[in-house]
Amino acid sequence: MTNLNLLIRDVPDFPKPGVVFKDIGPLLADPTGFAACITALATPWRGTAIDAVCGIESRGFIFGAAMALELKTGFVPLRKVGKLPPPIVGIDYDLEYGSARLEIGAQGLPRGARVLLVDDVLATGGTLEAGRRLLETIGAEIVGAGVVIEIDALAGRRRWPVAVPLRALLHC
Ligand code: AMP
Repeated sequence: MTNLNLLIRDVPDFPKPGVVFKDIGPLLADPTGFAACITALATPWRGTAIDAVCGIESRGFIFGAAMALELKTGFVPLRKVGKLPPPIVGIDYDLEYGSARLEIGAQGLPRGARVLLVDDVLATGGTLEAGRRLLETIGAEIVGAGVVIEIDALAGRRRWPVAVPLRALLHC
């Protein structure tokens, strides 16, 4: 059994001092580890009715698209500003320093679509919260969220509704 923790590289002080960056590069490059990761991410959701996996740009695309294939659903990207052609729906959200914006194609999901939201890392929780709010704006029903790594000390989970499952594969 592959120990996925060994395939995550901690990079201190990147991209800025005080941040320990979780580098998923070794995990993606390891064929056994990557496959085990996707299986482990997808397995708890088998049997749940899901229309689409929504991945957050950019590393959420890698895991989300692979999970969509496993779960036999569509994949819908939540993109950073200016990447998608119109019509789009967007949402602004605050970062630790400054702000950011996530966008989705306005015709990407029908109202009432049941979606699973996916990203690589849950840190302060602002990005996942923005994704959830954006999906709610377009009338999607969020059945849950999945992340590869949850940084427990940053307590991002507090920004996620307790009634909606949020599953993290690894905790640090
Ligand atoms: P947050 O909004 O603070 O939960 O940050 C989550 C987003 O920022 C994810 O899309 C991650 O890709 C990225 N991120 C935040 N902190 C880290 C970290 N320590 N290592 C790698 N990616 C991170």
